[in-house]
Amino acid sequence: MFFTDMIYPGRCALCDDILNRKEKYVCRECRKNVRFLEGPKCCRCGRPIRDADSELCCACAKRNSFFDEGLAPFAYDKIMIPSLMRFKYGHRAEYADFYAAAILFYGGAKIRRWKAQAVLPVPVHRRRMIRRGYNQAEEIAGRVAAGLNIPDLGRYVRRVKNTKPQKNLNDVQRRNNLRNSFRIDPGIKLPERVMIVDDIFTTGSTIDAMAAEARKRGAEKVFFVCAAIGSARQ
Ligand SMILES: [Zn+2]
Ligand SMILES: [Zn+2]
Repeated sequence: MFFTDMIYPGRCALCDDILNRKEKYVCRECRKNVRFLEGPKCCRCGRPIRDADSELCCACAKRNSFFDEGLAPFAYDKIMIPSLMRFKYGHRAEYADFYAAAILFYGGAKIRRWKAQAVLPVPVHRRRMIRRGYNQAEEIAGRVAAGLNIPDLGRYVRRVKNTKPQKNLNDVQRRNNLRNSFRIDPGIKLPERVMIVDDIFTTGSTIDAMAAEARKRGAEKVFFVCAAIGSARQ
């Protein structure tokens, strides 16, 4: 253990400082800043909502979705955004340990109730994957699958068009951009209950496009987990 520590010391998933051997996932200072989502949440996507009496967030209330239910342990906020940016673009694949542990801890009972039989990471296009060295969703998915002792079907999923970055598109453009961009190997029949894994849930259009493809391939119940979730745009 000592030897590997020297080559590849763990980093705090929130501030990127090197962890000492007693610290796990985050440093002692940052431990105080770990805030799991609390309060009323949307029954479908799990994002925080202001009005405790409404069941759905304004995004879910506006339209149906191909996924049944999902959750994320953290808000996509000023604490999590820098962490997820380094995870995605800064070669910090190891942060996936923290995100996966948080998902399993926070989602525990609910995830067990879903009884998902396999995990499906959201794929990135091969070119983008080569540039980054890894697919961030796969890093989380593998760990979640191991924690739940269910198979990770990542190798059967791929991104077929190099979709434009979603950042600058509006909601309708996002959905068009994503339509038909995910392919699950037609040779495989999915189990009835599957769980999609991604790093961030913002508009939900990515998860929804994946969920639509999973249903086409035989899934009847589609759940999702993400590390962080944004609030719905009004
Ligand atoms: Zn820290
Ligand atoms: Zn919702």
